[in-house]
Amino acid sequence: MSFTPPSRSALRGLGTRLVHAGRDPSAQHGFINTPIVRGSTVLYPSVQAYAERDSRYKYGTLGSPTRESLETAWSELSGAAGTVLAPSGLMAVTIALLAVLRSGDELLVPDAVYRPTRILCDGLLRRMGVSTIYYDPVLAPDDLAELFTPRTRAVFVEAPGSQTFEMQDVPGIAAAARARDLFTIMDNTWATPIYFPPHERGVDLAIEAGTKYLGGHSDLLLGMVSASERAWPLLRAVSDESGNCPGPEDVFLALRGLRTMSLRLEEANRRGLAMAEWFQARPEVKRVMHPALPDDPGHAIWKRDFSGSSGLFGVTLRPAPPKAVAAMVDGLELFGIGASWGGYESLVTPVDCTSYRTATRYEPGGPCLRFQIGLEDVDDLQADLDAGFARLRAGS
Ligand SMILES: *Cc1c(COP(=O)(O)O)cnc(C)c1O
Repeated sequence: MSFTPPSRSALRGLGTRLVHAGRDPSAQHGFINTPIVRGSTVLYPSVQAYAERDSRYKYGTLGSPTRESLETAWSELSGAAGTVLAPSGLMAVTIALLAVLRSGDELLVPDAVYRPTRILCDGLLRRMGVSTIYYDPVLAPDDLAELFTPRTRAVFVEAPGSQTFEMQDVPGIAAAARARDLFTIMDNTWATPIYFPPHERGVDLAIEAGTKYLGGHSDLLLGMVSASERAWPLLRAVSDESGNCPGPEDVFLALRGLRTMSLRLEEANRRGLAMAEWFQARPEVKRVMHPALPDDPGHAIWKRDFSGSSGLFGVTLRPAPPKAVAAMVDGLELFGIGASWGGYESLVTPVDCTSYRTATRYEPGGPCLRFQIGLEDVDDLQADLDAGFARLRAGS
């Protein structure tokens, strides 16, 4: 029975590591979980200690035992030199970009990027003098390297793409970027470090919306940025300089989520794939966008680089009038209509991926829906959708 944290050699499997990461019962009177530490002021024992800020925790914005617990665990899980937490996934994207970009720099961003990231690039970053060049997400690394200029500072990647689920050759892109001394920044929210170890694959800064599978219950907002050795000092600096800090309750809930994350993700993987295959067999469906399906255009890359998939994927319907699609979706009893994902409940959102792209044209050939598969029984979800498809047909 261990009271102190187990040795490294005892922590082999993923489940074991997730159970023990970032906590030390011996430091808290034997209680298993790191408590919620709230606070602004940290007291120092003397004038001299204060002058030298000689303390493990210096001030509330700069860190706390609760935050450190999750940062340590996340770095272990991601194979990172260090992790910074942020109050949302989007704020994690912001912190990662601000860590490496300077006024006058160019940033390469895939056309299929999470849309709020695009709004950040076209808004805040542009006002700060950073230009964003959007690129075709399926460009081969060598072709992408043709877009590098003397001003290019970083390449952003996201695999699979938000809404359209294209796979990117992340190790290839990261190698091309590193050869030119550029940073690779990845939004790894879909796979999480459990299914795609970002730093092992050459990524410098990996973003995760903790809001999704780490939280897992749609009851918190959180972001993480983990860093490679060379990016870590830059990331730490921008976080400390900006006063970035998440709320302690959200961090505590995320730590609770961490202990069961691999189980929930395994279920998401299994159910997501089962549902994707079921959609594929439906006559109303034109195409399912899910890289773990063998006939997906990104499947070879997914199989080479990823060890699983999450429960989020896209479905393109055969052409149907908007009213029929609305009747199908509005009448679903088990699928909520709303943004975000990674929780225990199933969701559906209509998506229009044709409207905002600038580097590529996207023509799905029918209405697109994005599904998040939760922990309901797959048979029940299929029965609900069966009735939905009947409404779709009746309105077409
Ligand atoms: C949800 C999401 C984010 C942002 O997370 P929030 O916590 O909602 O800000 C970032 N990237 C991707 C791919 C996401 O799906």
